Amino acid sequence: MSVSHKNFILIEHPLIKRDVTILRNVETNPEKFRAAVQRISNIIAVQISKNFGLSEKEISTPLENTTGYFLAHDIALVPVLRAGLGMVNGFLEIIPEAKVGHIGLQRNEETLQPIEYYYKVPKNIESAIVVLLDPMLATGGSACEAINYLKKRGAVNINFACLVAAPEGISKLEQNHPEVKIFAAALDRELNEKGYILPGLGDAGDRTFGTL
Ligand code: URA
Repeated sequence: MSVSHKNFILIEHPLIKRDVTILRNVETNPEKFRAAVQRISNIIAVQISKNFGLSEKEISTPLENTTGYFLAHDIALVPVLRAGLGMVNGFLEIIPEAKVGHIGLQRNEETLQPIEYYYKVPKNIESAIVVLLDPMLATGGSACEAINYLKKRGAVNINFACLVAAPEGISKLEQNHPEVKIFAAALDRELNEKGYILPGLGDAGDRTFGTL
């Protein structure tokens, strides 16, 4: 399937390639899996934050005054429960001042449609830079649902961060939310008939939390 790459940013870095290999490997235990997700999330957070605006204010060093730089906007991280939780700490290590909302979506394994069960986002979501965290962009159904909800709550600046993206999910997100930038650590081949990404890494939630 051909993919429009308009708003899709594949983050290419040797350490990401090494860590995605750890994630894919069926031998990797949950402890090592979580550690690799955290390291990849660090690098994605650095990449996404390249676009963050700064405000300037004079500060004093022990020797003299100089210009200090501060993030100009609030940052809201919104993991999609439950697999998105694995990416939160890696982002918070890089952006510790970020607020964290949550969106609970579950996949109906037969229809592959997302079912919502929990929502809570920071109050100032309209003026914040929002980063939606969901490790697997598969059909794109959950990502589109989550973005619909964030938009209903007033969010306008929305980024999507995942570990692995499938062409089908990228296309769906680009069609439904063309202004949302998608950041991924890997672009995989396709979905299987159950909506799993190939070659993928299996069920990200189960592998993160050891519930296989
Ligand atoms: N969700 C997962 O956890 N893995 C996939 O491959 C697709 C959706």
